[in-house]
Amino acid sequence: MKRVVFIVVFAMLGKQALAWGFLGHKTINYYACFALPQDLFGFYKNYSDYVKTHAVDADSRRYLIDAEACRHYLDCDHYEHSAPLDTIPHRWFDAIEKYTEDTLLEFGIVPWHVLNMKYRLTQAFKEKNLRKILKNSADIGHYIADAHVPLHSTSNYNGQQTDQVGIHALWETRLPQLFYDSIDKMPGTVEYISNPQEFIWSRLSESYSMVDSVLRLEKLISKMHPNDKRSLEPYGRGVKRAYSIPFSRDYYYALDNMVERRMLASIEAVASFWYTAWVDAGQPDLSEFGNLSMEEWSDDKIITPDLNQKMKGRQEYDIE
Ligand SMILES: [Zn+2]
Repeated sequence: MKRVVFIVVFAMLGKQALAWGFLGHKTINYYACFALPQDLFGFYKNYSDYVKTHAVDADSRRYLIDAEACRHYLDCDHYEHSAPLDTIPHRWFDAIEKYTEDTLLEFGIVPWHVLNMKYRLTQAFKEKNLRKILKNSADIGHYIADAHVPLHSTSNYNGQQTDQVGIHALWETRLPQLFYDSIDKMPGTVEYISNPQEFIWSRLSESYSMVDSVLRLEKLISKMHPNDKRSLEPYGRGVKRAYSIPFSRDYYYALDNMVERRMLASIEAVASFWYTAWVDAGQPDLSEFGNLSMEEWSDDKIITPDLNQKMKGRQEYDIE
């Protein structure tokens, strides 16, 4: 059967931004390549452009596939009053037994899906299948990064329960864009993960523990900007309404570098998961791929979605 990978190209970024934003996801996958231990760095550095470009394929699929949305989040507050996440069984089948699969799918499955992707990536390394290695690397990078975003761990994902609609894109798109140059992107420790399940659950638990600050500080800083929380900015040939720079700056610093910390932690986690999958596959020699170009192994097809259509599942990015 002919392999077909759909790459969705967004001709415009319009009112809907995407998780961590295009910039955030691409940055995380790209810098993960350069954070790897030497024995795997040689491989990924040749394909850093691929895993960067395809870092947002998983979000693109949300326009096409109903089952995609729930892979990007987990509404922890449906199960737990507060972090740590110790009520939800961390093993998928134990969780199904306790809550049913329908419930899990309804409230999100991101940590379980990361583990599923880890399995797929390990298999791809075992098979030495370049296309699968790169596709699964790009995708797992996306889901790991989503698990590091506090607003991906709550049912109040866009501040819609607390009169803070728009906060999702503010935290993960507007702030990374505005402060991109000052964000440190080289993590300290990238190493083998001996327990991937507990690793990803603890990262999600950290995200959940930050939700309160994300929401509370936005309220606080909003009070300091009663008249200039939003401003009009040039956009194409017109203007768009956005969170103002003074408001965004005050919020960013009030968060005490949380955006930078979560981005760095994401880069570290993505590189560590890639490395772990490769080690678990028996450390296959990948030098035979050399500099094989994308054209030589890929038959990706490019399609363009109708952007007047809404994302399937929850709409995280609507602004007021
Ligand atoms: Zn996502």
